[in-house]
Amino acid sequence: MEFLEDIAELERFRPDAGEIVLIPTMGALHAGHESLVRHGAEMAKGRGACVVWIFVNPTQFNDPADYARYPKTLHADLALCRRAGAQAVFAPQASEIYPKDSAVRVPSLPAVATAPQLEDRHRPGHFAGVCQVVLRFFELVRPRAAVFGEKDWQQLQVVRAMTEREMPETRIEPMPTVRDPDGLAMSSRNRFLDEAERTRALAISRALRAAADVPGVQAAEETMRRVLVESGIEPEYAVVRDGRTLLAPGAGPKRALIAARVGSVRLIDNAAWPAGG
Ligand code: AMP
Repeated sequence: MEFLEDIAELERFRPDAGEIVLIPTMGALHAGHESLVRHGAEMAKGRGACVVWIFVNPTQFNDPADYARYPKTLHADLALCRRAGAQAVFAPQASEIYPKDSAVRVPSLPAVATAPQLEDRHRPGHFAGVCQVVLRFFELVRPRAAVFGEKDWQQLQVVRAMTEREMPETRIEPMPTVRDPDGLAMSSRNRFLDEAERTRALAISRALRAAADVPGVQAAEETMRRVLVESGIEPEYAVVRDGRTLLAPGAGPKRALIAARVGSVRLIDNAAWPAGG
């Protein structure tokens, strides 16, 4: 496996690599990321290379404290990528991705990045930063496909819509959320939960499971809120929406989505609603 530290090294790697399947991450990798890398390596087999990008993107953090403490575990990340079958890790410096003397384009945001009033409302500027960095890396790497986790459901819809418009030759490949055995969705930020907070955080996946069998959108939303509040969690949102637009649900597939702070950590999770829907 190659470690590509800058754009020049990427450009040296690129010509012989064949079709690239890209796995965008911010590092601090866990088993959720690993399933994305394994899937990417499988997709690339015989026709190209699976490349993991590790980059803590400053422009997508709306909270400077969150950026400052974002965990960095490069050594372990490289071992995970190697084990999962990646051909390369691309981990450039921010100064190279955002050079001082030239502005890096922010593509116009799709409606799903501004209309739902979910992550877009609670993390202002976040999706502009995500779209900016994704397009920048896509233009550098020109991947055939990029793998994203369903864990960040609104992000997945935003990236899909942005890519369809800006770079239709790149396919966005979704992967299901990987959970700890007790149901907690894996996240690089879970390490900041103390034991009591981690136990409390289990109410989030419990709320999604409880709502999955409740008929009716309003009743399902009330169920999620009740389960959360009973555990001392006041959600930022706990809603059922259309799975693609994230607006009020209609006839198409629907998604239940929750965001909540537990201690100092902001957690998000989601699931198909109703169960199997
Ligand atoms: P991050 O490094 O947290 O920005 O995430 C990088 C990619 O991994 C994103 O596409 C996430 O949706 C995905 N991801 C993060 N956590 C999980 C998880 N528990 N299961 C599956 N994918 C995940």
